[in-house]
Amino acid sequence: LKKPTIVILGAGYGGMITAVKLQKSLGINEANVTLVNKHSYHYQTTWLHENAAGTLHHDRTRIQIKDVVDPGKINLIQDTVTAIHPENKKVTLENGELDYDYLVIGLGFEAETFGISGLKEHAFTIGSINSARLIRQHIEYNFAKYNNEKEKKQERLNLVVGGAGFTGIEFAGELANRVPELCKEYDIPREKVRIITVEAAPTALPGFDPELVEYAMNRLEAKGVEFRIGAMIKEVTADKLIYEKDDQREEIPTNTVVWAAGVRGNPLVEEAGIEANRGRVKVREDLRPSEYDDVFIVGDCALIINEETNRPYPPTAQIAIQQAENTAANLKRLVQGQTHLEPFTPDLKGTVASLGSKDAIGVVFGDKKLFGWSASAMKKVIDNRYLLKLGGIGLVLKKGKLNFLNL
Ligand code: FAD
Repeated sequence: LKKPTIVILGAGYGGMITAVKLQKSLGINEANVTLVNKHSYHYQTTWLHENAAGTLHHDRTRIQIKDVVDPGKINLIQDTVTAIHPENKKVTLENGELDYDYLVIGLGFEAETFGISGLKEHAFTIGSINSARLIRQHIEYNFAKYNNEKEKKQERLNLVVGGAGFTGIEFAGELANRVPELCKEYDIPREKVRIITVEAAPTALPGFDPELVEYAMNRLEAKGVEFRIGAMIKEVTADKLIYEKDDQREEIPTNTVVWAAGVRGNPLVEEAGIEANRGRVKVREDLRPSEYDDVFIVGDCALIINEETNRPYPPTAQIAIQQAENTAANLKRLVQGQTHLEPFTPDLKGTVASLGSKDAIGVVFGDKKLFGWSASAMKKVIDNRYLLKLGGIGLVLKKGKLNFLNL
């Protein structure tokens, strides 16, 4: 009997956990498993805001795939997926083509710029090691340049964050920690630097408990972050951002806009002819799209509805990891000839947003609110738990946030 071929696209949270679980649960005689990823490394997207601000080196965030996935058991291909052809069970790569019996799509997210003028061209986004490293270098360059110009340009020192949702708040918190270091390094008075967060919704952190939102805003304001709430970004150019608030147009001179207010699923999914909304596929309860029985979608490309609120679950690493575990178990069933697949049910453990060093907010165990030190410690424990799941204690010791007591 021919061994089935399983192809996993993307080595993010979804792809990596699917691969690691299959490596443990399937014998090499049962299936050929291939993992395709753009880079030789996996990165923890949830730490990228730290790399972008420059508070954590990106080598802490990335993990060589071969260090956790055994190339003797899983075929690793470093290449870029350019097209998926589910009707022919084929995937096109920049440098080749693959056939599959079962496909797992874990290609993650891209920034969604909602057609805002100039945003795509001039704003930065936090989406990969490359994009985070670019932001860090760009900010440093502007600080370095400032004192080299006769006419001092304030736009070099105005750092604007687009969006005060989860990612925007986490990034602003890191920037607030980083700016004093940069000021020291480049001989710039701290009061000259501004960090401005622009949010269209009537509150920062929409969807979060109001007490946590108030705590977060107070803490960030105390560290020098300014908020423009209820402010719609209208345009971004190379040296300014224009927003509208209370029918007034305002302008911020800036060379640095980091857009953290919208994501969509990878466009390759729609291009494959799978029905999707902003690249997210409303999957069946076993995470397969309605059109195909041999395709599973995990992570940010999948859309699942929270029955309690009748709204989609926000895309998170937490859900991507759980979906991957479910998918790996279902693939094992299929490979072993079973036809019944287990439905996926998210088991949300909580949400913790960092506010920079040793500070955070969160809700865990259903409704327990955490603030400050305890929330920050919890965030590090969550991060370490993921590394434990991915690569065992060795990986935690190598890449983990070991000072989780914030000593
Ligand atoms: P990703 O992790 O995005 O991985 C996709 C992979 O596919 C990448 O390795 C990429 O290189 C690869 N890839 C993409 N395109 C191609 C291609 N064409 N060919 C080959 N490979 C490709 N979630 C939480 O639960 N908790 C948090 O605290 C949290 N914090 C966050 C902080 C930030 C700054 C950001 C940006 C997001 C945060 N999230 C958080 C959300 C979380 O990171 C995402 O939901 C998660 O990364 C989705 O996982 P994924 O496996 O779908 O995709």
